[in-house]
Amino acid sequence: MEVLLDIMEPGKSPDPHQAVPGARKRVVGIDLGTTYSLVAAIGVEGQPLCIPDEDGRVALPSVVHYGADGRIITGETARDLAPSHPVETILSVKRYMGRGVEDIRRRHPMIPHVLEEGPGGMVRIVAGERTVSPVEVSSEILKELKSRAEDTLGGPLHGVVITVPAYFDDAQRQATKDAARVAGLEVLRLLNEPTAAALAYGLEKGREGMYAIYDLGGGTFDVSLLKLEKGIFQVRATGGDSALGGDDFDHWLMARFLGELGEEHPQPGLIQACRKLAREVKERLSDEEEVAYALPGGTTGRVTRDAFEAGIRELARKTLPICRRVLKDGGVGAEELQGVVLVGGSTRVPLVRRLVAEFFGREPLTDLDPDQVVALGAAHQADLLGGNDTQEMLLLDVTPLSLGIETMGDLVEKIVPRNSPIPTARAQDFTTFKDGQTAMAVHVVQGERELASQCRSLARFELRGIPPMAAGAARIRVTYRVDADGLLTVAAREETTGVEQSIVVQPSYGLTDEEIAGMLQEAMRHGAADMEARLLNEARVEAERVLAAAGSALRDDGDLLNENELKRVKALMLALWETSRGQSAATIDQAVREMDAGTRFFAQRRMDRSLQGAMTGRKVDDFA
Ligand code: ADP
Ligand code: MG
Repeated sequence: MEVLLDIMEPGKSPDPHQAVPGARKRVVGIDLGTTYSLVAAIGVEGQPLCIPDEDGRVALPSVVHYGADGRIITGETARDLAPSHPVETILSVKRYMGRGVEDIRRRHPMIPHVLEEGPGGMVRIVAGERTVSPVEVSSEILKELKSRAEDTLGGPLHGVVITVPAYFDDAQRQATKDAARVAGLEVLRLLNEPTAAALAYGLEKGREGMYAIYDLGGGTFDVSLLKLEKGIFQVRATGGDSALGGDDFDHWLMARFLGELGEEHPQPGLIQACRKLAREVKERLSDEEEVAYALPGGTTGRVTRDAFEAGIRELARKTLPICRRVLKDGGVGAEELQGVVLVGGSTRVPLVRRLVAEFFGREPLTDLDPDQVVALGAAHQADLLGGNDTQEMLLLDVTPLSLGIETMGDLVEKIVPRNSPIPTARAQDFTTFKDGQTAMAVHVVQGERELASQCRSLARFELRGIPPMAAGAARIRVTYRVDADGLLTVAAREETTGVEQSIVVQPSYGLTDEEIAGMLQEAMRHGAADMEARLLNEARVEAERVLAAAGSALRDDGDLLNENELKRVKALMLALWETSRGQSAATIDQAVREMDAGTRFFAQRRMDRSLQGAMTGRKVDDFA
């Protein structure tokens, strides 16, 4: 504490650019973790440091207790209150950020809280006398870190960088920003956790190539591939399991303890006590070969690291196929990596380190404290964005899933492909399908499947006020813009009139990383079938378009045909319509071609007529 106060003192910065004493902006990085949260800032040595509380602890348990007297307690004390006050104490709130009630009930059937539906489908948690949103709960954690930082840095903060898992979707990111706002913090940027870890190691100054970031925390596992190229950092691929982490290791020990106690139906209080002991024993086993413990009630026992590691081996091994998939997604072999970074408290478990080293065929980077590394990198980035650091650096992240638009026939047109570096803006032109069409529905979807109904629906809106024109004449430009925080804005604009409509996408329900992994797997598994379905739908859409065009041609210029010709055209239309109900794309395509060939003379006559019309409608001068 002493040291930090000293090094943070304004005006003592050794930075040569900081001529004015105290000019250094008070900016911090915050790792808002599921289990623990930390805040870090740049010290006088120019190195980021985590800021400790009065007792010298840097990791604040991400736990909030709502007392009957209206008091709100966070951190260690709140965690200690959890066993006796399970309903008033909220743990792992990060898991509920940006999610709805049903979603949480399905994912966390054991959650001891009464949940209510709040505005926008978001969950509210009954905590004792009050009902709180995950955003409010997170803001309490942020407020605690904020006051800790302000005490140490000697004044109000100018801004923060908060880290989020690379997998966080728009709703979860937005919820994180909202929590910061409620806590009175100015968010300079949300930063993906793996990117923060790479920054902490200064990898951006290192050798070009790919780096893997392996993050095993309390309740979640994330693995990311970062590519460093010409000083530019990109997250190239991500994967993970949102229900795998140190808590599962605790469970193994807990089950053992409860077994030793002979408790078949333990009370919640006993479970929590055993859980706490399990975590302590587990953490000691990272340094000690054998640990002795005393259970509630006085029973004592011992557990060796070997026994513990045998017990959690399968759990830890579950991370490896995920690493394999991410390497595959990133298109690299383990041997091509420049380095592997360990992040998260659970990577202190020696077995985890061995498995990672073995899998990647190299010793991972572990110089920095794995549970501080994300906060340290965030502090680095905050310093940069706060204008304290003059060094040029561009940080890019990627979109975890493709973002697309539904087109006719339940098809998906991908606009921002998966793994696109962000921020990004991409546009695509669309046109009207029917004559005189004055509105167009925009359905924003996320996912890899070929059909919109198989992707995740993010938003819908309608572009209205398109001037009535012939089918295909309007030009509607749809732009997808993903900002640096991963938030998506979709805009549709009719180019001739400038009519525009846009939406910021904040889906009410988030996706877990398993769901994302599942969606990717589905897409791969269904690849061939999807392609067939796509072709069939495309053929049907084309058939429908041709039929609609023929219909309006007959309406407008039917008088150009004699009775026989009219019959022939109608017969072709009927044949095409019937074929398009069938299941074969090839047959439909064939019928479309026949229709085309069989009505060419009609199209020719119409063209002649419209040309005449154009000429008679204009002054001769126009053709001079
Ligand atoms: P999160 O990012 O989920 O908040 P952290 O990265 O802070 O999580 O990791 C928390 C987890 O790390 C907890 O399960 C904790 O018990 C575990 N952990 C912390 N220190 C050790 C250690 N020395 N040995 C084993 N596990 C540890
Ligand atoms: Mg973490």
